[in-house]
Amino acid sequence: MTTLTKFELKPLPYAYDALEPFIDKLTMEIHYSKHHKAYYDNFMNAIKGTEMESMGIEDIFRKISKYPMAVRNNSGGYFNHTFYWENMKAHGGGMPTGKLSEAIAKTFSSFEEFKKQFSEVGKTRFGSGWAWLCLDEKGNLFICSTPNQDNPLMDIAEKKGTPLLAIDVWEHAYYLKYQNKRADYIDAFWNVVNWEEVAKRYENALKSLGKK
Ligand code: MN
Repeated sequence: MTTLTKFELKPLPYAYDALEPFIDKLTMEIHYSKHHKAYYDNFMNAIKGTEMESMGIEDIFRKISKYPMAVRNNSGGYFNHTFYWENMKAHGGGMPTGKLSEAIAKTFSSFEEFKKQFSEVGKTRFGSGWAWLCLDEKGNLFICSTPNQDNPLMDIAEKKGTPLLAIDVWEHAYYLKYQNKRADYIDAFWNVVNWEEVAKRYENALKSLGKK
């Protein structure tokens, strides 16, 4: 087994049309098979023959400021997209349950207020980037956004944390269906959120904080 096989281009966890009508089939097909694949291929090329081939992705992110821009952009593009696909599903949406639901209500005063704040951060990210719900090292939730393909695990992030939920707000994520109306895409996103996956990430993030 070569070390490269640990970075795999995972299949999309559902069909291209699974998120219709909220995210259309053609957008998903191009986004996954062209954009995501290109980030993956370019990431593999950028780390070929370097120490990064034998490192975990989070270790690469922790030292990202030391590596070439091609690694920063493409490792982020590779990781962020996999993360985003997996926090969506057909017939998703609704509300989180259990501990995550309590933590969101406690941090943001209500689920509706959380949605409002997260949406606003996505809508106001200038240019291309991402909005995130994260857990900080003290176990508190926070919302942030990152430019380009950066993410909150990178050492250059304004505020670092463990990501729990992501939305891609690059134009390629919504332009075919929503054109310039990013806000409509973000509103639609709430109908496809996979809250079970987000809750699982939250539990895991809490557990690994406990181990530190
Ligand atoms: Mn994208």
